[in-house]
Amino acid sequence: MAGEPQPDCLFCKIVAGEIPSTQVRETETTLAFRDISPQAPVHVLVVPKAHYPDAAALAEADAELTAQLLREAAAVAADEGIADKGYRLVFNTGEGVGQTVFHVHCHVLGGEGIAMRLG
Ligand code: C5P
Repeated sequence: MAGEPQPDCLFCKIVAGEIPSTQVRETETTLAFRDISPQAPVHVLVVPKAHYPDAAALAEADAELTAQLLREAAAVAADEGIADKGYRLVFNTGEGVGQTVFHVHCHVLGGEGIAMRLG
């Protein structure tokens, strides 16, 4: 069923506490934790606790949860002190652009030295 935990999903295991992570925020429906291989001074992942494979599937299934995820991403940026200077939210969607974990996650990237223009 849509949203149900998937036995082989890495982020479902992190949500369940079966794999350790460095958590920075938690709500009833979302979890934010530091990326294990940071690509910027601040690099946090925000995930819904429910399992959806990517941003498109989440948005299609649950508009309110999609909004909660984005609000949490903004809250992470505020907590981490990067909101004023600007930050980047990235949802890799599909293997072709490097999505490696098929449980939707929002990368929150910011801090000194991060290139802020795409292309
Ligand atoms: O968007 P993509 O699927 O490539 O991102 C997955 C991210 O999950 C990577 O940035 C990777 O470093 C991170 N990761 C993590 N903790 C793990 C495994 C992967 O933070 N245990």
